[in-house]
Amino acid sequence: MPFCPKCGNEVANTDTFCNKCGTSIQEIPAEGAGTKVNQVAYAVLAILLGGLGIHKFYAGKIGMGILYILFCWTAIPGIIGLIEGIIAVTKKADANGNIYI
Ligand SMILES: [Zn+2]
Repeated sequence: MPFCPKCGNEVANTDTFCNKCGTSIQEIPAEGAGTKVNQVAYAVLAILLGGLGIHKFYAGKIGMGILYILFCWTAIPGIIGLIEGIIAVTKKADANGNIYI
């Protein structure tokens, strides 16, 4: 049973909105909403190896990963990777420790 992210009210798997506070329940993201990754693994890879796009390869975004490698000498991918890692940390993981990026 999922729980409402706002009020903690238990909601049915089929519910789209929390019947207590009306918050939209996004347990199952729509198609193309994001890739499911392990939060800790993704954040660590992004922060430590973000400049090489390793977190992108981990997330299955091969094209983006190659782009990061091509531009790794500019240090820009490293900065973006660091930011992406921080964003990943601030995201609320599901019961299995996964986030959608
Ligand atoms: Zn609620």
